[in-house]
Amino acid sequence: MRMLLAWCLLVLAALPAHSAESNMVLINGTVVAPDRVIANGWVAVENSKITAVSATKPVIAGARELITKDIIFPGFIDLHNHPFYAVFPRWTPPRVFANRYQWRGLAEYNTTIQTPEGKLVEKNFCDIDAYVELKALMGGTTSILGVFQPADAPRIEPCIAGLARNLDWASGFHGSPLGQERAVNVLGVKPFDQKLSEGAMAQFRTGNLDLAAVHLAEGQRNDPETKAEFAMFESLGLLGNKSAVIHGVALTEPEFGKMASAGTSFIWSPRSNVVLYGETADVAAALRQKVLVALAPDWSPTGSVNMLGEVGYARTVADHQFAGLISGKQLFEMATVIPARIAKIDDKVGSLKAGLYADLFLLRSDASDAYDALAKAKPQDITLTMVGGMPLYGSAAHLATLGLKEAEPVKVCGTDMAVNGPALGIGGLAGTAARLRKALAGEKATLAGLVECP
Ligand SMILES: [Zn+2]
Repeated sequence: MRMLLAWCLLVLAALPAHSAESNMVLINGTVVAPDRVIANGWVAVENSKITAVSATKPVIAGARELITKDIIFPGFIDLHNHPFYAVFPRWTPPRVFANRYQWRGLAEYNTTIQTPEGKLVEKNFCDIDAYVELKALMGGTTSILGVFQPADAPRIEPCIAGLARNLDWASGFHGSPLGQERAVNVLGVKPFDQKLSEGAMAQFRTGNLDLAAVHLAEGQRNDPETKAEFAMFESLGLLGNKSAVIHGVALTEPEFGKMASAGTSFIWSPRSNVVLYGETADVAAALRQKVLVALAPDWSPTGSVNMLGEVGYARTVADHQFAGLISGKQLFEMATVIPARIAKIDDKVGSLKAGLYADLFLLRSDASDAYDALAKAKPQDITLTMVGGMPLYGSAAHLATLGLKEAEPVKVCGTDMAVNGPALGIGGLAGTAARLRKALAGEKATLAGLVECP
């Protein structure tokens, strides 16, 4: 709602009274459409939706024109994140671990991250939400899962709506009130994690959902505790076409085969796996078994800061460990249309197609190979991120062309960029960051930067 209000106010402020139809934009650039890349193509946006994707300029009277040399991508769909931890700086673990239960029990981790996070969420929910969703948007993410599911939340804060779509809180796909979402994050299959995800599991058992993304087999491939989890996943009734396995580092080819037969998908998070366990999942086996594989960063303390970073990281891992297995286009799809299919929202987002929501981002780069450019992109290369037709982040020039008069400047790796300040809340980014710095200082912690520069 806050986002909607902010945008309405901005549109009203920016436009002459007679031109309500001017919330229409023609974006020109290299268009990464589902079936082809269109050099010098066009994406037409009318209000919240894409109305045309074409090689020739669509005719829409009164539309603004954003003429660029940039590459236009559909926004990333991030199905594995714990966004609220993104206010904390990167954590360098003291060693690699056999499994997730080892580091989650470390005093160092609990003192510096876990305990402060719990306290901050209680007191500073809206500021954390705004800051971490901006971080996601700056990396091209337009939909994200994992804040925590409404059924397990003490309350739903209305400020969750706006900025990136929260697929477990406020996607914008199911109208109001909030909390009608059809995707949940399950923290694990052991009793302790089942307790933390009671509401999500209850919703799963009712069948009234499209996706339960379940943490599973997160540890080293030969760790007995990690290997034992697939059987627990099966015994909980989670193997089926409404679930996806997150991590799955210890999964074997026959287990991926069972997932393929059941219609269970897979969400790969290589950076966090390599940092914590020294190895990642056998994606080659998953792909051989024809499991749908999506890519997502897990969280910023040990994974990539955002989806753009994880695409770059996955490119490197694929080239070294699975040479020739994953093409640039495939990697792009693992971050966009495949997670949209897994969450059963591919009729709404995940591609640049007429009829879908205008969730997209622009990348300033060599457009001769759009997929290669995506894997090599740096944070400052993203020149616009838009959700439902609303510009939220980008270059000041692009935001001005789109009629955003209250763009707030921000430096990104030495480059001048801007954010839609009013969409973040009171005081925009500066106000949000100041309140968070103060709150974090009270927990002897510092606020993480918005991006990590190469
Ligand atoms: Zn996770």
